[in-house]
Amino acid sequence: MTGFEDRDGVIWLDGKMVPWREARVHVLTHALHYGSSVFEGERAYNGRIFKLREHTARLFKSAELLGFTIPYSTAEIEEACKAVVKENKISNGYIRPLAWLGPETMGVATKGAKVHAAVAAWDWPSYYGKEAREQGLRLTHSKWARPAPNTAPTASKAAGLYMIASLSKDMAERDGFNDAMMLDWRGYVAETSSANLFFVFNGELHTPTPDCFLDGITRRTVMDLARKRGITVIERHIKPEELARASEAFLTGTAAEVTPIREIGEYKFAVGPVVKQLMADYHELVNS
Ligand code: PMP
Repeated sequence: MTGFEDRDGVIWLDGKMVPWREARVHVLTHALHYGSSVFEGERAYNGRIFKLREHTARLFKSAELLGFTIPYSTAEIEEACKAVVKENKISNGYIRPLAWLGPETMGVATKGAKVHAAVAAWDWPSYYGKEAREQGLRLTHSKWARPAPNTAPTASKAAGLYMIASLSKDMAERDGFNDAMMLDWRGYVAETSSANLFFVFNGELHTPTPDCFLDGITRRTVMDLARKRGITVIERHIKPEELARASEAFLTGTAAEVTPIREIGEYKFAVGPVVKQLMADYHELVNS
């Protein structure tokens, strides 16, 4: 199996399109040592990027939260995203814009480091397989908690925040689960390694308040779709033991889309009418 570095196609790197295999960085890249990197995950449906504007805005916001300025305009990054989709002939796929500090300086301080940017895209029809989408995901509990906002830039989609996401996901998969639910530093339900969480309580949709983790673009989209269906949507702090009373559960994310959950550890859920409706509505919206 070939890795992600060994593919045909092109990647946008620092302002120009380069052959895929030549999109390289030096080992003394600041981001590699100190996590000074932010990124986005976007999805194209029928060759069109869904919510491109929102994703680009979040990329710039993420960089700002880490104290660096991307040396391109939002229009230039959006054009780069569209161009990699087009030039790599992607119809249904994933787009990965990235901005990071380079090897111009070495040490914890970032002064003198240049901000680099790249956009890659590849075919990626589904994050979870058909069976998981029909029968629901199996989640376990993560031993890692989302950090408090004064211990990390939690509103940023910063690479460093994914260290505990990878540890959680790897542990879950090793134990035969699809993913893991992470609590926040106070013990409230937070999110999974790469998606937001929703629960149905008495026909109402409840989702954790995103005050220390990513307020997902899919999350916002699904809240709007639910309200359009007349479903009451409530953002609040949710304690894990409350999940015993939830009838349905699902997760949302650009890659994960809307995917039902059938269990989170000891808590079991049905793939019920609310999640089925929202999956259908989301599918229709992204393909419209
Ligand atoms: N939380 C985390 C940790 C994520 O990586 C993602 C995926 N970007 C999400 C939530 C969902 O965000 P979005 O809907 O914007 O993709």
